[in-house]
Amino acid sequence: MYCSAECRLAAAEQYHQVLCPGPSQDDPLHPLNKLQEAWRSVHYPPETASIMLMARMVATVKQAKDKDRWIRLFSQFCNKMANEEEEIVHKLLGDKFKGQLELLRRLFTEALYEEALSQWFTPDGFRSLFALVGTNGQGIGTSSLSQWVHACDALELKPQDREQLDAFIDQLYKDIEAATGEFLNCEGSGLFVLQSCCNHSCVPNAETSFPENNFLLHVTALEDIKPGEEICISYLDCCQRERSRHSRHKILRENYLFVCSCPKCLAEADEPNVTSEEEEDEEEEEGEPEDAELGDEMTDV
Ligand SMILES: [Zn+2]
Ligand SMILES: [Zn+2]
Repeated sequence: MYCSAECRLAAAEQYHQVLCPGPSQDDPLHPLNKLQEAWRSVHYPPETASIMLMARMVATVKQAKDKDRWIRLFSQFCNKMANEEEEIVHKLLGDKFKGQLELLRRLFTEALYEEALSQWFTPDGFRSLFALVGTNGQGIGTSSLSQWVHACDALELKPQDREQLDAFIDQLYKDIEAATGEFLNCEGSGLFVLQSCCNHSCVPNAETSFPENNFLLHVTALEDIKPGEEICISYLDCCQRERSRHSRHKILRENYLFVCSCPKCLAEADEPNVTSEEEEDEEEEEGEPEDAELGDEMTDV
């Protein structure tokens, strides 16, 4: 679905000619459908944004006149060491990740092999591509529906009308959820070169958002930033940022594979570890399914 004829044309010119299944749209044996089906069955939550982002990257190169330009662009996303990639893939696919990654690679190759990108289709190259999308893929949280609901909240209404409108909205969400699952507020996943260069800080001086309700990502300063000062965003949401240094480090280590040394973490380094209340929280957290957090990162904002 496209918002306008221009968007549709732009997609067709960049990648969609390769990805368009045409009359095979519902054919379970079409290679792209097999790939998406395999992805849904190995990955929770069952969205297809991430695997289709990888497919779009290949399709874009396939369609491009200047293939090298795109290959150079994609290579700007930070690359991890082999053991780190392995950890990310494990995190995304769970314990059976090796076999599943190989299955996905086979289906991906069947659907999309491209000579100019032959390295992406090797076991090592596919793992790298997968890890790249896993760590840099930014959920694009745009929802015209949530905007409309916010606008409704702001209306001045008689109590009776308010009640009726609220009941309608509740029912609407229930109906949509029944049809689409819980992925209302995310329309996809994207890669952003500049944003992916921004390091994390637990006291960020900038934040990212999608205020225009499309794929345009905005980076907005949260305070005055001096020339030469590093622009940092937070990879943690605001609730996670309020947690103890120990908890923050755990989330960052598991999902992004680094140890934070932002000013806040440095300042807290000497403090006694955690309060008792928080320690209880943490024990609960250990029991959560391990892949929950990175999964969120790939689908939601
Ligand atoms: Zn559009
Ligand atoms: Zn920090």
